[in-house]
Amino acid sequence: MPKPTSTRHLIVVLGDQLNADSSAFTGFDPKHDCVWMAEVHQESTHIWSSKQRIALFISAMRHFAKQLEEAKVTLHYSALEDSDNTQSLDGELLRAIKTLKPQTLIMTAPGDWRVLEKIKGVAKQTNTPLEIREDEYFFSTVRDFAEHCKGRKQIRLEYWYRELRKKHAILMEGDQPVGGEWNYDHDNRSAFSKAGPPPIPAPLRFKPDAISSAVIQLVNQRFADHPGELAPTSEGFGWPVKRADALLVLADFMKNRLPLYGQFQDAMWTNETWLFHAHIASSLNLKLLSAQEVVAAAQIEFTQGRAPITAVEGFIRQILGWREYVRGIYWTQMPSYLEQNALNANAPLPAFFWDGKTTMQCLQQTITQSLSTGYAHHIQRLMVTGLYTLLLGVTPKEVHAWYLSMYVDAVEWVELPNVIGMSQFADGGLMASKPYIATGKYIDRMSNYCKTCIYKPDQSHGKDACPMTTLYWDFLMRHESSMSKNPRMVLQVRNLNRMTDETKQAIQSQAKQHRTALIS
Ligand SMILES: Cc1cc2nc3c(=O)[nH]c(=O)nc-3n(C[C@H](O)[C@H](O)[C@H](O)COP(=O)(O)OP(=O)(O)OC[C@H]3O[C@@H](n4cnc5c(N)ncnc54)[C@H](O)[C@@H]3O)c2cc1C
Ligand code: SF4
Repeated sequence: MPKPTSTRHLIVVLGDQLNADSSAFTGFDPKHDCVWMAEVHQESTHIWSSKQRIALFISAMRHFAKQLEEAKVTLHYSALEDSDNTQSLDGELLRAIKTLKPQTLIMTAPGDWRVLEKIKGVAKQTNTPLEIREDEYFFSTVRDFAEHCKGRKQIRLEYWYRELRKKHAILMEGDQPVGGEWNYDHDNRSAFSKAGPPPIPAPLRFKPDAISSAVIQLVNQRFADHPGELAPTSEGFGWPVKRADALLVLADFMKNRLPLYGQFQDAMWTNETWLFHAHIASSLNLKLLSAQEVVAAAQIEFTQGRAPITAVEGFIRQILGWREYVRGIYWTQMPSYLEQNALNANAPLPAFFWDGKTTMQCLQQTITQSLSTGYAHHIQRLMVTGLYTLLLGVTPKEVHAWYLSMYVDAVEWVELPNVIGMSQFADGGLMASKPYIATGKYIDRMSNYCKTCIYKPDQSHGKDACPMTTLYWDFLMRHESSMSKNPRMVLQVRNLNRMTDETKQAIQSQAKQHRTALIS
């Protein structure tokens, strides 16, 4: 590490803060200030991070470091292979502060409560003032969200989303939504026809350059026992690792897939990973793209008549709505949110989540694809893997660790509320008004997975019973008393009560057999 004579500000840049326009760089003076970045083992091992995820973060960090060096910024960068690397964020920051003795640490608000605590701890220990600046790559601040929640008995996405639409004049005509409706979800739930999806334009994937190839080799060596696969080809690792590539992915989506995005947002199909989705979450979360530019790009597609309102509203709702909403939930609820377990779920995560080896086609497809690409789309996460762990009653913290490990876009502020709140209902309804539960018939309707599965989605017990369907009814029986108090679950509980005691017992025994088979 070079030793400048004196450092005024040390700019802390984390692996998910890779843009030189961020608030941390405001007022940056290359003569007196320098930048600190660190690759450390601990960030890939505190949860058992997948190879795809580790490679993306490290490659993107190295590309950003190169960009800073080309701009003649003094950079203090700890590489994973450095012999003196302490392999922890606080260890590396401590070392840099001891060497550089900065007057101030400056950073953009991090995306992870644990990391924030670590950095605050180091600042305190070394008596170095820490300035934390707003992350301007979002539309809203955590304070805006907290203000929105004040005095409300329930917080719901819809009202927050409408407030942001109005405030930022997005898809608005005066104070009314363009097209007369705030929400086109009802038009956005189509499955593919039996013949399969319409032609899907191949998504833009990148052949790893020299930096990425070296990172892939490093990850395959150092993290050989971590989940998933990684190879130096566009199929083996094709993610954008720098802003220029992320912009190309965004443009490709806008041109080729946005028009059908809304209609087929929830659909799934065997061996079709990418479908009509955008695949930009990792770029947004690493801050290679800003939420504002993505939403603006989609709005232009609508105003230019190239994409229908149903698709554009459906897409913008995900970013302006859900993404800002989950961030608000995370920062207003942490750290206790991590411990939520409203349904007292305590089953272990089945081992097949780490290798995809299961006879259940829907899970086999979703998990295998996640392991090889670091990607699954929203309905695969919510209504296949998430549905199964919810119905089985897996400890929410274990489910959280799996999602955080698996996906290239996984950063705790966005992953945790999606898992704890939306998918596992572990916050007891803070984020979602009811648990997202369904039988295998939902998966049959939205995909062709069941067609090649050995189970039958409409059967809840017996030798061909679909485990999703069995566990759905078993879940309702196990949680009948709390579910019957939820007005949005009344119909499902009523259907349960129409069953004979004999059927209920057969389902319970089938569920027990399924659980036993998982651990034997
Ligand atoms: C259990 C579970 C875990 C999830 N974990 C993550 C995660 O770790 N990181 C992550 O970015 N998203 C997560 N999501 C949300 C969503 O599944 C992904 O953002 C999406 O699948 C990413 O693929 P895409 O870019 O092709 O998204 P698209 O379907 O094309 O959507 C466009 C963008 O909208 C945003 N978005 C969509 N849904 C959500 C949502 N529910 N919350 C926040 N942003 C959303 C993303 O930035 C996404 O890139 C999770 C959802 C569930 C149900
Ligand atoms: S039958 Fe059940 S387990 Fe098999 S793919 Fe369909 S939903 Fe999944």
